[in-house]
Amino acid sequence: MRVFITGGAGFIGSNYVRHLLANTDDSVTVFDALTYAGNRETLREFDDDPRFAFVQGDICDREAVRASLPGHDAVVHFAAESHVDRSLLDPDVFVRTNCMGTNVMCDVAADAGVERFVHISTDEVYGSIDEGSFSEGDILQPRSPYSAAKAGSDLIALAYHETHGLPVVVTRSSNQYGPYQFPEKLIPFFVTNLLDGHRVPLYGDGLNVRDWLFVRDNCAGVDLVLRNGTVGEVYNIGGGNERPNRYIPDRVLEILGRDESSVEYVEDRKGHDRRYSIACDKVRALGWEPSTDFDAGLEETVAFY
Ligand code: NAD
Repeated sequence: MRVFITGGAGFIGSNYVRHLLANTDDSVTVFDALTYAGNRETLREFDDDPRFAFVQGDICDREAVRASLPGHDAVVHFAAESHVDRSLLDPDVFVRTNCMGTNVMCDVAADAGVERFVHISTDEVYGSIDEGSFSEGDILQPRSPYSAAKAGSDLIALAYHETHGLPVVVTRSSNQYGPYQFPEKLIPFFVTNLLDGHRVPLYGDGLNVRDWLFVRDNCAGVDLVLRNGTVGEVYNIGGGNERPNRYIPDRVLEILGRDESSVEYVEDRKGHDRRYSIACDKVRALGWEPSTDFDAGLEETVAFY
């Protein structure tokens, strides 16, 4: 299979490229604009692999996508603006990339007649939940410009399935951690700052709950949905590791042999969602389950940085 991967120079996309090249015979074209979040060096080791190609391009640029996408069997669409804090400061680029970019991707993919289009989304589109877990059929109540733009992109992709028969499947994953993540996100931010001897800020009371998913487990789930998911369906992919945010610096401090004086509690983020939780029965029914123990994954991640 020839797979067209947008955002393949980012955190999850680059792990997925590794997954495909290591575990399948597929060939891969990465299409990535190399924004601040993309890192070409992450993929440098594949430059001599005849199954790997890299194209620098913007998913909002229809002609650029049209010049590269036709001839591929499947699209896995990771490219997005992905950082909630940035979306509070500069929401326009989130709507442009996540909504307009997804529209261009779907439009060109429908014209090209691809066999599969996996749209990568997030548990944040459901909003916050105090108790229980969201299922795929629940209504979307995004609460940040990031998650609202992602929710928009989900609906755009699913609409292309309904109106144009584009064979779309959507994944909604929980918070990921692992190697190759840009160090503005919680875990690599804490690790790199603590390694440099700085203190780390923790929002509010540190009791906001996130479900942590090791990135390679997510890649295996995305790949299973690509091959065996039902077209037109949405699949939640969660790690089953719900933890209050303050668990993260506690564990990282323990791994690095530091004490609590390195953590500073700061004013909460505006509109900070209290808890995310998703039910993952659908993807489990396809045969997926996460295999990485949270503490072991965290130790590998700290060692990577
Ligand atoms: P990331 O920010 O690390 O990487 C995004 C990549 O997309 C970068 O390589 C960037 O250069 C590229 N990109 C951005 N704008 C582009 C554009 N206009 N054209 C082409 N390329 C562009 O993101 P990530 O953490 O790897 O997330 C990937 C996807 O997974 C996103 O859709 C995100 O919403 C989703 N997701 C992420 C998480 C998480 O915990 N990181 C959880 C659930 C879902």
